[in-house]
Amino acid sequence: MPEEAAFLGKVAAGSRRVKIDQIGSTVQGRPIQLVQIAEPGPRPAPATAAGSVVLFICSQHGDEPAGREGCLSRIRDLAFSRDAEIVRMLRATTAVFVPTANPDGRVADTRGNANGVDINRDHIALETPEARATAKVFKDYKPDIVHDLHEDGTTPPYYEKDVTWLWPRNLNVADRVHDESEKLSCERRVQIELATTFSRNLEPLKRKLVYFGGADNQAPKPEEVLNQPPCGYRLTSAQFAQVQQKLELHDVHSWSTGGGRFVPLAQQARGLIPLLLDAKGQYKITTAERVSTC
Ligand SMILES: [Zn+2]
Repeated sequence: MPEEAAFLGKVAAGSRRVKIDQIGSTVQGRPIQLVQIAEPGPRPAPATAAGSVVLFICSQHGDEPAGREGCLSRIRDLAFSRDAEIVRMLRATTAVFVPTANPDGRVADTRGNANGVDINRDHIALETPEARATAKVFKDYKPDIVHDLHEDGTTPPYYEKDVTWLWPRNLNVADRVHDESEKLSCERRVQIELATTFSRNLEPLKRKLVYFGGADNQAPKPEEVLNQPPCGYRLTSAQFAQVQQKLELHDVHSWSTGGGRFVPLAQQARGLIPLLLDAKGQYKITTAERVSTC
């Protein structure tokens, strides 16, 4: 990690396009870094979020170093490139990297963090400081495209390629985001940005079913589907106090109601809220009461 810090320091010192921020600390106190690259230079977070953003999450599994190595060399290349197409891309798009998303795991060469928690299974419950740091990046920068880099063996019949690109398979993902991700290529930037923007703005109006399991290549079991999603969830004050920080990181809005808190489903995080608060959620942060009528 000291070598990485020195490397990133040199890149940032040598290129006005690059900005490095510490966005958190690991269980063992190592810094979690965020690298932004844009032409002529990174803009403040709100302006960046309003534009086109590509996020790279590098090696959240500490024993899969290839993603991190690829990110570090890509950071260097984007910082110093004079290729006209790259420069034009960086004028329109901010490249954002979490170059080592699991520093303790990388040092120890383990899949999980220092407490043995798999960060890649913690993006709902946000138990780890590493997942909380990434959640805040999503909230602050509103990325249009996210590359989450892993290493994996082949698992026939689905994944039999040297390099596998996977789109979001979760059934709660907005249809257009799913479809555009599947067709992802450089030429599709505008379409993808439109799909994510529509998803964020139209999600509160959706009446779509909620899925607690399944994937786009595996049908959910009947009990994993909420055919009539509730209007929202009611939390006691004690429950809310316990999960307030996580709800804020997930950008979930709520309001006070007779001695408790109400989380309406009709908001941007609609697809996520039941996974956080419903008794059926595998990674729920609390079990809140379903409210069926508004
Ligand atoms: Zn992995």
